[in-house]
Amino acid sequence: MKRNIYVTQPSLPPLDEFILYLKDIWESKWITNEGKFHREFEKQLVEYLGVKYISLFVNGTLALVSALQVLRITGEVITTPYSFVATTHALHWNNIKPVFVDIEQNHCNLDPEKIEAAITPKTTAIVPVHVYGNPANVERIQEIADIYGLKVIYDAAHAFGVKKNNNSILNFGNLSVLSFHATKTFNTIEGGAIICHDEKTKKRIDYLKNFGFADEVTVIAPGINAKMNELQAAFGLLQLKTFDEQVKKLNEITNSYRNLLKNIDGISFLRDIDNVKHNYAYFPILIDEKQYGKTRDELYNILKEKGIYSRRYFYPLISQFPTYRGLKSAKPENLPVAEEVAKKVICLPIYPDLDINSVRKIINYIKTLK
Ligand SMILES: *Cc1c(COP(=O)(O)O)cnc(C)c1O
Repeated sequence: MKRNIYVTQPSLPPLDEFILYLKDIWESKWITNEGKFHREFEKQLVEYLGVKYISLFVNGTLALVSALQVLRITGEVITTPYSFVATTHALHWNNIKPVFVDIEQNHCNLDPEKIEAAITPKTTAIVPVHVYGNPANVERIQEIADIYGLKVIYDAAHAFGVKKNNNSILNFGNLSVLSFHATKTFNTIEGGAIICHDEKTKKRIDYLKNFGFADEVTVIAPGINAKMNELQAAFGLLQLKTFDEQVKKLNEITNSYRNLLKNIDGISFLRDIDNVKHNYAYFPILIDEKQYGKTRDELYNILKEKGIYSRRYFYPLISQFPTYRGLKSAKPENLPVAEEVAKKVICLPIYPDLDINSVRKIINYIKTLK
């Protein structure tokens, strides 16, 4: 039987090791609310990622929603339309008006040079995304934020383990938010986290994810329930042990793709950035319809017929969804680069266990379609 290849496949920890952790949890009967696995996972993540403080969440979306509340962000927030829809939904859930700003061509991240024109007296923050794990222009964004007194919250859902000049990309901005969803390069089935740089903020985050409880009788704010449970944390601890190995495999697959694709007319792909340690979580390619001879959607559909399920991340743009398309900043004229990339992009399958034969098979289909 033909086996389908999906855009990603979650890495799972060794079952026997997970069972040992489960036995421990069954014995203690401590299954959520900051148990020992939760504490240990936070400790090891801080060390592994090279950050000061981390707070675990049940998923990335609630971490984003909470991050905006931690900093009391209101009014208007500048963000990118080229992302997973949760980036903007988190603003919506906080009654914040998203203001979309276009992306730059090279790595599909928010274009810093277009931010200032979108700032109004109501602007309080910028929410950029490190799309595909490629760092946004953090220095320039911080400069602008400093001039206008804005907060910066990075949606770093794709950027687990990514470093720039040997420094975690999560150390930039006021807060960064991770997702550990099954489809992400590092997963705890569902999960997420907020990274912050001081102890007081860490405390506030921990209160907010637990209904606002500061102690048994003190509720400091209308917090939410967004705690990570012990099973997720135990799962994550095991995932951490193999993460470097997984990235190595992803790097090899990326190199194979780049080698095999380099001579196909009309197909381009993103390059590594100098001084950046990448996590190779995604492999987006851009299809130039005229040169390639087929449209992006034709390629997407033919691959699908062959059992290869690529994804058009990020099409449609967030700015095109009914909730947001009425906004002035959502108009296609305001977002020409994002509109164009969204028409051309396909993310090819990539996950640590994807074998080289499958990579060759995918590339052959892409070649022979022409
Ligand atoms: C996956 C993702 C999220 C949401 O994370 P969940 O853990 O699935 O809630 C937010 N932003 C981006 C860019 C994502 O890719």
